[in-house]
Amino acid sequence: MFSKQTVAVHVKGMPVKVHLVSTGAVSVKTKFRDATKTGMLAMLDFMLDKTFTEWMPIWVMIIEHPEGFFVIDTGENANVNDKNYFKSSGFFANWFDTTQFKFIVNKEEEIGPQLNDLQIPIEKIKAVVLTHLHLDHIDGLKYFPSTEIIVNKYEHDKPFGDLPKLYPSWFAPTLIELNQQYEAFDKAFYLTKAKDLLMVHTPGHTYGHCSIVFNTDEGCIFFGADICYSQQQLINEKYSGTNASHKLAQKTYAAVTAFAKEHKTIFIPSHEAAAAERLKTLTPVF
Ligand SMILES: [Zn+2]
Repeated sequence: MFSKQTVAVHVKGMPVKVHLVSTGAVSVKTKFRDATKTGMLAMLDFMLDKTFTEWMPIWVMIIEHPEGFFVIDTGENANVNDKNYFKSSGFFANWFDTTQFKFIVNKEEEIGPQLNDLQIPIEKIKAVVLTHLHLDHIDGLKYFPSTEIIVNKYEHDKPFGDLPKLYPSWFAPTLIELNQQYEAFDKAFYLTKAKDLLMVHTPGHTYGHCSIVFNTDEGCIFFGADICYSQQQLINEKYSGTNASHKLAQKTYAAVTAFAKEHKTIFIPSHEAAAAERLKTLTPVF
């Protein structure tokens, strides 16, 4: 439904390819995406909402960095189509995940086959970096049993809305503490020796939610995951109905906006179809 996008950029003059692939499609309650209230009221509002959004992508980003290839999030898998998929997570999770969301994921859209299509062997992946632990970001982990998985320790210690029953049995990620300041962000962690690729703490959606900053010669590619559903939401300071903390979400919007005003920033939320075109044309927020 959403075609993959590849852009050729450079780091210190060296060519790097960045790919965006969608591991299927998701639709959510309209007021889950576009809230007019906050906190519990927003939650009540979207649960009572009878309308769903259009189909949206579930992006995974692959960076062919000279220090090694990085996979950012792992997307969804085709088992999510099975109506019993959430049963093991308990009554509430089963009700919630089968009534508030809709998924369409084909087997060939999973991250494994997509890497295959790109002729990238799994062994070439230096690390998988998870922005947070929600199912549509971790359900492709099954392809990476021998790859290093990097997770913010705080996200792991204080998850919000994750479904541990869906973690692979072998799941034992490298937990890192984000203990550096980076520009507008209080907490960051460098993923490369060149210090051009980093995780920054962008809480709100979950307490430990992270974004990925990739500084290229052509501009900063900012994988914002679930900070918001679209760039327009960020610019207009509109929020989704699903933040662990509205206050933290507001702080994160302010930090990302300040950063994007200082640097040419190409903003890629996990579920925005238009992000693919912005990546291709390297179109910044401001
Ligand atoms: Zn999420």
